[in-house]
Amino acid sequence: SVDNLEVTFAFGADEVRAVRGVSFNVQQGESYGIVGESGSGKSTVLRAICGLAPVSGGRVTLDGVDIPAPRTPDFYRRVQMVFQDPYASLHPRHTIDSVLSEPLAIQGFDRRDERIAQALEDVGLGQGFRFRYPHQLSGGQRQRVAVARALILEPQILLLDEPTSALDASIQAEVLNLLDRLRAERGLTYVMVSHDLAVISHMCERLVVMEHGLAVEELTRADLRAHRAQTDYTRKLLKASA
Ligand code: ATP
Ligand code: MG
Repeated sequence: SVDNLEVTFAFGADEVRAVRGVSFNVQQGESYGIVGESGSGKSTVLRAICGLAPVSGGRVTLDGVDIPAPRTPDFYRRVQMVFQDPYASLHPRHTIDSVLSEPLAIQGFDRRDERIAQALEDVGLGQGFRFRYPHQLSGGQRQRVAVARALILEPQILLLDEPTSALDASIQAEVLNLLDRLRAERGLTYVMVSHDLAVISHMCERLVVMEHGLAVEELTRADLRAHRAQTDYTRKLLKASA
């Protein structure tokens, strides 16, 4: 749950109020979307939840308990994020194998070989990719490795920042179907940022619309599909994507 979250970045005398009071509550097993124009603060909300942007006001809680700052390994065991830029989770001098085994080692997971093989398969990458370096992959393949890395710890909650924007339609569908399946089979909860309202409408039961750091309204999937919006801003977003 995110309650009146605020994030202000300060550089010298300058200040950017990237998030100015955003609240939403995601139930276990739910799929939740965040949409809004570029620069509206979507990525910053996800980054603040996982401890990568400074929370300057409000609360972030998990099962009603404030998430500890700094975030603990136990938190990352339960909550994983896929970044907008897949390079953010891939070290350029580490093979895919070591990118995937690092979280397993930190968390003390066993059967590492098996888990890595399964994770690659889950995202539709063959075992041939295992000992390649990130620069030897296409953008879409890198994004899939980033998804595999986030899923390998079998987290309860996945924060997805434009996870499929760089992928072509068939691979996008593959990754989205995987997420849907994990939600149905394992009760995975996810929060997905996307500029693609068709993806959000397909993947998310509810969503929040952000404008200039503010949550302007919350919609259900049915509202989205029926183009039922309270604000002009949301109507404009819906129109732009129609
Ligand atoms: P996009 O759709 O383009 O990814 P977004 O909605 O994800 O946009 P954010 O990345 O959350 O937008 O950025 C929100 C605002 O905060 C922007 O004005 C951005 O310039 C600013 N911002 C983000 N990160 C930082 C930072 N580390 N330092 C200073 N300002 C930042
Ligand atoms: Mg962003």
